Amino acid sequence: MEAVAVSHGEIFVNDSTDTIKTADHWQPEQLIKQLPQLSQRAVEANGVASEALGQFARHAASLTLRNQSGVAELHSDFADLFYILEGRATLITGGEIISAETIAPGEVRGESVQGGKTQQLCPGEIFHIPAGLPHQMMLADGETIAYFVIKIQENG
Ligand SMILES: [Zn+2]
Repeated sequence: MEAVAVSHGEIFVNDSTDTIKTADHWQPEQLIKQLPQLSQRAVEANGVASEALGQFARHAASLTLRNQSGVAELHSDFADLFYILEGRATLITGGEIISAETIAPGEVRGESVQGGKTQQLCPGEIFHIPAGLPHQMMLADGETIAYFVIKIQENG
């Protein structure tokens, strides 16, 4: 048992029966070292591979690599927060999903997004896609994009 004193005199006890909290630190240069392996997996899995980095109460962190365009997506309960590490792609957001199909509770997929807003994704940029907003990542032939993702549970 470890007692931690804080400045105003209160003492918080880190009891062994509680979950011991630790901070996570993900360094871009360490994440980038995992990309060749993810790239190999993406080739064998329809152009996308992910590595889970952390699962928390209402959010999850992962590393994702794409080497082909994705399908159209909509998550009713989760927001996506992307930090682009490497590569380039075009992100389409908003509009309407064509040939939409619910594949799991709150998870819609489809062929494409029609009438959405188009933005270029570049390394160092950060994108937030709120729950319920259609989105699709488009890659030109031979392009690869790698990004750190936080999925945040907004509803449910
Ligand atoms: Zn998504």
